[in-house]
Amino acid sequence: MSEIFNFCAGPAMLPKAVMEKAQREFINWQSTGSSVMELSHRSSIYMDMAKQAELDLRELMSIPDNYHVLFCHGGGRGQFSAVPLNLLPQGKTADYIISGSWSKAAAIEAQKFGNINTVDITLSGEQTSVLPSKDWQLTPDAAYVHYCPNETVNGIEIFEIPETNGVPLVADMSSTILSHEIDVSKFGLIYAGAQKNIGPSGLTIVIVRDDLVGHEQPATPCIMNYKTSADNDSMYNTPPTYAWYLAGVVFKWLKEQGGVKAIATINQAKADLLYKAIDQSTFYQNNIIDQYRSKMNVPFWLKDETLNYQFLKEAEHAGLTALKGHRIVGGMRASIYNAMPIEGVQALVEFMQQFEERNM
Ligand SMILES: *Cc1c(COP(=O)(O)O)cnc(C)c1O
Repeated sequence: MSEIFNFCAGPAMLPKAVMEKAQREFINWQSTGSSVMELSHRSSIYMDMAKQAELDLRELMSIPDNYHVLFCHGGGRGQFSAVPLNLLPQGKTADYIISGSWSKAAAIEAQKFGNINTVDITLSGEQTSVLPSKDWQLTPDAAYVHYCPNETVNGIEIFEIPETNGVPLVADMSSTILSHEIDVSKFGLIYAGAQKNIGPSGLTIVIVRDDLVGHEQPATPCIMNYKTSADNDSMYNTPPTYAWYLAGVVFKWLKEQGGVKAIATINQAKADLLYKAIDQSTFYQNNIIDQYRSKMNVPFWLKDETLNYQFLKEAEHAGLTALKGHRIVGGMRASIYNAMPIEGVQALVEFMQQFEERNM
């Protein structure tokens, strides 16, 4: 089989070296004679691995000691409920910044649990943009401010970290975690479903500052309660053991690549290559202003949309898969997470140029 480059938005491709290691260890992990997924999460060999994965993530993101790192179930959407349940006391308001469909979905879910103030920051004009964070209209005594730094569907990424004047900042980093360096201390809470930039689906990472834990609403289910998770090292119930293991293998791989700083340089080069190809052609377009263009999810449209089907069919034939845009926005989308090698983006750009020549 010739090489396939999978541009799926999630679950997304994983590094080849990670998959090969997992395959080698699949039925006999660390000489136990069992697969890691067949072992008790309370066995010392499993718990050592789990702890090491947490330490590697702490190192990769320089997570300060006053933050818990929780390995949870329930995906990004699970956190849409867990965040207000844990962080929004009755009578208080939380601000939700809307920059696309994921931040909107988070706000809609949160409304079940308390007072939510939504702040739409999208600006549509000839080019799509968002309001700079200094102009966001925030509630002064809000319980927290929630935003989505990278909107996976529409490809808007907010790189500046908003100043919230002491109000805890909560970020849905599902599709941008570990893609570039961030200062964790600027956040009250960061969460991310694993299936974009960490590992397989089924695992969700929550990084939460100590003082925000333990104020949950009375009806919070225990598996969504950060305090319960923190007190039990994320093993109050059976964690997604295999996904946790595979995330750990990804963290080791990322360290071998030189860490987040090194992968950020490659991510920048990949995004530059693809946006340049789009901008230089009159055949393809992406109308988001430079400053807010996602480096992880690159949506683009063919000017002649009747060619969409042909484009996707020929791309697939060339080994470039899952390029169909999200149904909400149409067109194409190339998700180029950490695991996508630059060769994949080069192959895509080459294909796009050839397709353009054949269809001018
Ligand atoms: C994929 C995604 C989600 C939803 O994740 P699930 O694990 O499917 O619940 C939420 N937020 C963002 C930004 C995403 O990219």
